[in-house]
Amino acid sequence: MSTTTRVRRDRLRLAVVALWYVAGSVVGAVVLAMGIALFAADSMLVTRLQPTEETDRDWWKSEVPTGDRIGWQLQGRRKTMVFPGLEIIDYKAVAYSPETGQPETATATRVDAGWPFPCLTGSSWYLMPASSPPGSPMVLESSAIRLETASGPRIIPWRPRPLGLLLDAVVMGGLVAMGPVAWLLARQIERRIRGRCPSCGYPGIGARCSECGRIHRHPDPVPDDPDQSMLTRDP
Ligand SMILES: [Zn+2]
Repeated sequence: MSTTTRVRRDRLRLAVVALWYVAGSVVGAVVLAMGIALFAADSMLVTRLQPTEETDRDWWKSEVPTGDRIGWQLQGRRKTMVFPGLEIIDYKAVAYSPETGQPETATATRVDAGWPFPCLTGSSWYLMPASSPPGSPMVLESSAIRLETASGPRIIPWRPRPLGLLLDAVVMGGLVAMGPVAWLLARQIERRIRGRCPSCGYPGIGARCSECGRIHRHPDPVPDDPDQSMLTRDP
C-alpha cells in the first residue's frame, strides 16, 4: 500500500471518528436530558415554593403566547420541583381579556432538563377563559412533548439551550470517548502480546517498525525473529 493512500485512509478514519464523537456527544446529552424528564417520578422531585422575581416576570412576558391579552401579572409564588438534571417551574398569572374585560387566568409549566447543565427547555401554557359558567382550560401553546405515563403526566422539553448543550456535550464527550479509547488500548496491548507493532499490527517489534516507522521506546527485550533483520533493513 502506498504512503499517500495510507495517509488518506488514516485522515478519513480520523474524520469519521471525530464526526462520530461529536454527534455521539450531542445525541447523548439530548437523550440523557429527555430521559431524566421522562423517568423522574413526582415522588423523586423536591418541591419548593419561592417568591417570583424579575427574571420570572421577564420569562413570562417574553414567552407568553397570547399577545392580545394585556397586563399579565404573576400571581402567588412559583412552585419549583427539582431533581438532578431537571427543573420544573409552575407559574400562574392573570390578565384581562380584550373581548370581555374580565380577568382570565393562565398557568404555565416551564421545564429545563439536562445534566450537568440544562440543555433543553420547553413550556406548556393553559388559559382559563372568563366565561359563565366556567369552561375548561384551553391549551394555548406547548413547546414541549406532553406524555401521559402510568405515574402521571410528563412534559419533555425539546428546544435546545445552546450553551447548556455545548457544556453537556463536552461532558458526554468524555464518557463517549471512553469506548474507543478502551478499544484502542486493548488492541495495542493485544498486538504487543502477539509480538506485533502496537501502531499498525505489523509482525515483529524492533526498535523501529519497518511498516509504519514508529519508534518503540520500549522494544521487546526478547531477541527479534531471524527474519527481523531483513524486515528492518532499508530497501
Ligand atoms: Zn508499525
